[in-house]
Amino acid sequence: MKKYVQLYLGGPGGRAVSEEAMRAALAPMERAESFAGVIAGWTVRPEPYRWLRRFTRERGLKLYLWLPVLSEFGELRPFRGVEGFGGKPLGGARFDGDETFDFCCPTRRDTGRFLLEIYEERFAWAEFDGVFLDRIRFPAPSAGPQALFSCLCPACREAYGAAGLTKEMLRACRDRLRAEEKPLGIESRREGRYRFADPAFASYLDCRAGLVTALAGRLADWFHERGLAVGLDLFSPLLAPFVGQDYGALSKKADFVKPMLYRYTDTPAGIFYELRGIARAFAPAGREEAYFRALCEAAGARPEEGGGACFSAELAAARALCACEVLAGMELHTVPGRPPVTAGQVGDSVGRAARGGAAGAVASWNLLAAPEETVRAFAEMPKEK
Ligand SMILES: [Zn+2]
Repeated sequence: MKKYVQLYLGGPGGRAVSEEAMRAALAPMERAESFAGVIAGWTVRPEPYRWLRRFTRERGLKLYLWLPVLSEFGELRPFRGVEGFGGKPLGGARFDGDETFDFCCPTRRDTGRFLLEIYEERFAWAEFDGVFLDRIRFPAPSAGPQALFSCLCPACREAYGAAGLTKEMLRACRDRLRAEEKPLGIESRREGRYRFADPAFASYLDCRAGLVTALAGRLADWFHERGLAVGLDLFSPLLAPFVGQDYGALSKKADFVKPMLYRYTDTPAGIFYELRGIARAFAPAGREEAYFRALCEAAGARPEEGGGACFSAELAAARALCACEVLAGMELHTVPGRPPVTAGQVGDSVGRAARGGAAGAVASWNLLAAPEETVRAFAEMPKEK
């Protein structure tokens, strides 16, 4: 099982990440035979990439640029934010100091062009082996119904219109969803696929995922033509349809996908963080806990026992849906003030990834913030069971 590690080097403005810090963080991995590569981004400062390029070349490891697609580069180009019913950009939220979650529209032709210009100007010189595309999605529904019903700009609405969905129909769809007893209108979920009570909602989600796939596909083609491999950072399959990610379609354009099977961390993309957030955003007042339980049940996500069964089931769902390699994304740390992720938990995830047939595992989301003992647990070969 190949093992990759993610290094968060700060936003475009860049934190000052020293060589010493990177060397120390990577030290427990160096002895691991399974160590296959480093995924690092997305400061535009050249120094960390220069050092990492040398480090990875000398050891025969791959170096991937961790590149957020639909957020984060707003200061470098006039990306246009996703719009809600009001016709105004929704705006974003900050996280962990300098991460921004201000999503832009995938459909406007400028979006992809801006990103590729940024890549050529700021990153191409480093001769990466591949790109790891993150944030290829709409804002998460944990941000509220307005996020789930974005983007509604004229370009996106034209695409929905081609599927027979008008703005008025989508407004009615949102209102039905709010009044619906079943969380997010989910009837059932089998083999990773949902059935929804409202066919218009199902059709909207499909259509919206098509917009993300179209952009990801254009970008993947562009990078492949230049000889770069393409990996995709995706929400766990049970969350993916609500952010516009279609595993089956996206995987046809990628060399590998990494489902974020984050079951411990109480941060964005964490499975239970997002499900709780959806409950807060969609449940009637005072019914959040019951809504959360029902949503977990409908999605097949058991929060019990640290979410281990959920991790394994989501990995199986991703493998069943995908036409490319699946690397299990697991968290090695969380934010300060939350119960820390332990070495035992990381060992459990590595073991589940191996038994679940994952082609590899990715240590997320920032090796530089992970305690040494969880990195060691990640580096070890899983014990046979
Ligand atoms: Zn749009």
